Amino acid sequence: MPNRKKDFINYLCFICVQSVAKEFFMLEKLKAEVCQANLDLVTEGLVIQTWGNASAVDRERGVIVIKPSGVPYSEMKPEHMVVVSLADGKGVEGKLKPSSDTLTHLVLYRAWPGIGGVVHTHSLFATAWAQACRPLLAYGTTQADYWYGDVPCTRKLSAAEIKTDYEANTGEVIVGTFKKLKYDPLQHPAVLVASHGPFTWGKDAHDAVHNASVLEFIARLNSETLRINPKIKMMQPVLLDKHFLRKHGPGAYYGQK
Ligand SMILES: [Zn+2]
Repeated sequence: MPNRKKDFINYLCFICVQSVAKEFFMLEKLKAEVCQANLDLVTEGLVIQTWGNASAVDRERGVIVIKPSGVPYSEMKPEHMVVVSLADGKGVEGKLKPSSDTLTHLVLYRAWPGIGGVVHTHSLFATAWAQACRPLLAYGTTQADYWYGDVPCTRKLSAAEIKTDYEANTGEVIVGTFKKLKYDPLQHPAVLVASHGPFTWGKDAHDAVHNASVLEFIARLNSETLRINPKIKMMQPVLLDKHFLRKHGPGAYYGQK
């Protein structure tokens, strides 16, 4: 074979190996991030037993990486994470079964292109509010720094929605709640699913865990606020605007730039 042809074939092989290696490492990095996010749920005191799950999406590859079902946190490693197709929910990689809430995560990723990570917990105070079927109204600036108003609570699922496609219907009810309220999910990064518990999201899995942690704090704060004054009304809209918009959006000026 002439040398130039040989060189060209070698070059093509090099490019091919390089792109396969890049694909491999990108997905391995995402698995490590999702595993860490799940472990952080324990560190943050947001889950016990094997409850809760965190995931992240890779929109370029059209997959999500999610926690496996029922694996104890103490044994959880990045290689246990399960890769699932964003389009049809079919398994792409991983020997274990994905979290039983995978279909809820998929519905949220498909409906909201701006989110990169999703978390579900049964953290004590946020779940208590979900069980009480009450939204978390904004009573002060702690909430206004993260939410542009309330953390909504969904309607209850119907018997038919519970009996068939329960997990996907949970996602649909969340998306429907946001549509009805005309809420931007990036301005309200959490929901309380009635009689169930909270889901949060963010730009990646780490951000979704952070929001789950803040949500638990404000759920507790609201419980305390109402205990002191059960008649308290929502904070002034002008103060809500000030606090949310100084941290988020085009006019944000909070923090180091
Ligand atoms: Zn749950």
